[in-house]
Amino acid sequence: MSHRLAVVVPTPAHSSLSGPLSYRSEFPLAPGVLVRVPLGKREVLGVVWDAPQSGEDERLALQDKPVAGVLEGIAPLGHSWRQLVTFSANYYQRGLGEVALAALPPQLRDLSAQQLSRRLKRKDGAADGAQAAQRPPLTAEQGLALQQFESGEGCFLLFGATGSGKTEVYLRAVERLFEAQPQAQALVMVPEINLTPQLEARFVERFGEAGVVALHSGMTHPQRLKSWLAAHAGGARIVLGTRMAVFASMPRLALIVVDEEHDPSYKQQEGARYSARDLAVWRGRNEGARVLLGSATPSLESWQASEKGRYTRLAMPSRVGEGRLPAVKLVDMNLQPKKTVFSPQLLEAIQQRVARGEQSLMFLNRRGYAPVLACTSCDWKSECPNCSAFRVFHKVDRTLRCHHCGFTERVPRACPACGNVDIAPLGRGTERLEEHLGELLADVRLPGGGPVRIARMDADTTRLKGALQAQLAQVHSGDVDVLVGTQMITKGHDFRRITLVAALNADSALFSADFRAPERLFGLLMQAGGRAGRDALQAGSSEMWVQTFHPAHPLFAALRRHDYPAFAAQQLKEREQALMPPFGYQALVRADARTQEVAQAFLGAAAAAAAELEGAPQVTLYPAVPMSVQRVANVERAQMLVESASRTALQKFLAAWHPVLQATREKGMIRWAVDVDPLAI
Ligand code: ADP
Ligand code: ZN
Ligand code: ZN
Repeated sequence: MSHRLAVVVPTPAHSSLSGPLSYRSEFPLAPGVLVRVPLGKREVLGVVWDAPQSGEDERLALQDKPVAGVLEGIAPLGHSWRQLVTFSANYYQRGLGEVALAALPPQLRDLSAQQLSRRLKRKDGAADGAQAAQRPPLTAEQGLALQQFESGEGCFLLFGATGSGKTEVYLRAVERLFEAQPQAQALVMVPEINLTPQLEARFVERFGEAGVVALHSGMTHPQRLKSWLAAHAGGARIVLGTRMAVFASMPRLALIVVDEEHDPSYKQQEGARYSARDLAVWRGRNEGARVLLGSATPSLESWQASEKGRYTRLAMPSRVGEGRLPAVKLVDMNLQPKKTVFSPQLLEAIQQRVARGEQSLMFLNRRGYAPVLACTSCDWKSECPNCSAFRVFHKVDRTLRCHHCGFTERVPRACPACGNVDIAPLGRGTERLEEHLGELLADVRLPGGGPVRIARMDADTTRLKGALQAQLAQVHSGDVDVLVGTQMITKGHDFRRITLVAALNADSALFSADFRAPERLFGLLMQAGGRAGRDALQAGSSEMWVQTFHPAHPLFAALRRHDYPAFAAQQLKEREQALMPPFGYQALVRADARTQEVAQAFLGAAAAAAAELEGAPQVTLYPAVPMSVQRVANVERAQMLVESASRTALQKFLAAWHPVLQATREKGMIRWAVDVDPLAI
């Protein structure tokens, strides 16, 4: 006798087969069991799914082949893991198979059953519970926050100033959890790969090596499989990772920490565009795990939830020890000579730091030498032939590189349009800033007599494996006097000798069309300022400088007072009036096509066909518009904003609209996708 099973396999996101398919097995197999099954001409990894509800049966009938094999030795994926995957696929409008399979480590998909069983024979130890003696006594604020955390339940927002010791709170929360529930597991997420090594080191120091595993895309496939298996089997009691870790199979999950919860990196920007922060909150509620979101500048969504009491707010306004938040100085660039890059005041402040043996950090959110190269006699500019964007001039290797499609060419000797040999950089990136600062400080000497050491850190200097850690170590050991970099250096790092942070080009975000731009800018500046004055000895002299043409802007007034609550209140008022998130809900439908007309016509036609759908009366569809970077890699991109005051109505509408969108696809269309709760509009 053979049994009929529902199996989730990697089917395309928008196909009509996006649910489970039916297979046959000689033995009954429980939901969650990993199997290998034939799909078309291939054999693929699948997950036995819950039996379909009535009405869904027809779809199942499409495949009726026998299961090819069962992955022995791996426990079935749990009910709550399957629920998480199902919720994510539904909420973010993607295929179940796509989401389920992407949530599993790549090697699980690729290895044969034999290779896997060999891999499984290698024993991974369980946590040894080793605890180092170097635990600092808690500050009063940390103690109180932990007490509130332990006596409550659900979701918590740890609103802690930069340097208030949030990491210690995470460590203690995990420690106390393990005391109370020796088998429990904790998931700790950070926004960026480059923040995982330092966090991992602290958790390993506290909990021993055996029980802590990392999960992020910078790991090799075998490493990822090993971490995943250890978490799935329960041996790894702490999983540290980036957004992908939210899908880790953890059968005894009892605590989820999301550090720097406001960070946009928690939103996946392709495929299923999930928010790992939001999924963490959902998962915590679904599995009865506590969720601890931490930030000095929470997302307005989380802040609003804590205002309304849906999340419990834990406040740590002071820095640990004698550390103090830096004094904020605004330089009015209207009063400077044209083309000034470093005002004399700022230069003076840097030199004071150099003289005292302290460090400075210059922050500019643009890498490369100059964003544009231009001919001085004709109109030629370094446009990308494939994108509606300029190629960035990188002086180190004399290339023009498109940051959108990657197209790279040597810098031409002369203007390609008129032959003029005088082509010049316009604007500046970190490379040029570093060079310029080097010239300005060429005659300045360190107390020991040596020249000022300037270092740059951005995606270009840290490309090679290990480079980032090496450069960070140099900064920590004091071998760098002035650090120039992009936002990469403004997040999370516990620098001890920096007493001056300067933001050199903050203005562009002040007048952006994106309603989230002020929130991002405020967060970025507070985070950047948060790198200064973390050490008691130098805290008194720590400063955050902002050079701006708009010194009277209210954003800077709030920044000066380090007053996130005032900033949030003002922003939330505006958003409430405009029914923007968190007061309204949004989705974007993006369309890629050969021409802008086709992309927009597709969106227009799909919108016209949507009027009768469920939820439609409560949903507003805006006209299709080109995306801000309209063309990338010769593909034209358009988008349509969908809004509703009701999340449920929006969800219902999107689900009903999905088949309509799929049916509306036209000639010349390349792809379309929905972005639910988009971060950039
Ligand atoms: P945040 O993440 O809130 O910006 P960190 O967790 O990086 O702050 O902590 C800032 C510094 O304070 C770190 O060097 C940390 O080791 C130290 N620290 C944290 N808690 C304590 C404590 N209770 N006593 C002494 N030092 C502490
Ligand atoms: Zn020219
Ligand atoms: Zn390009």
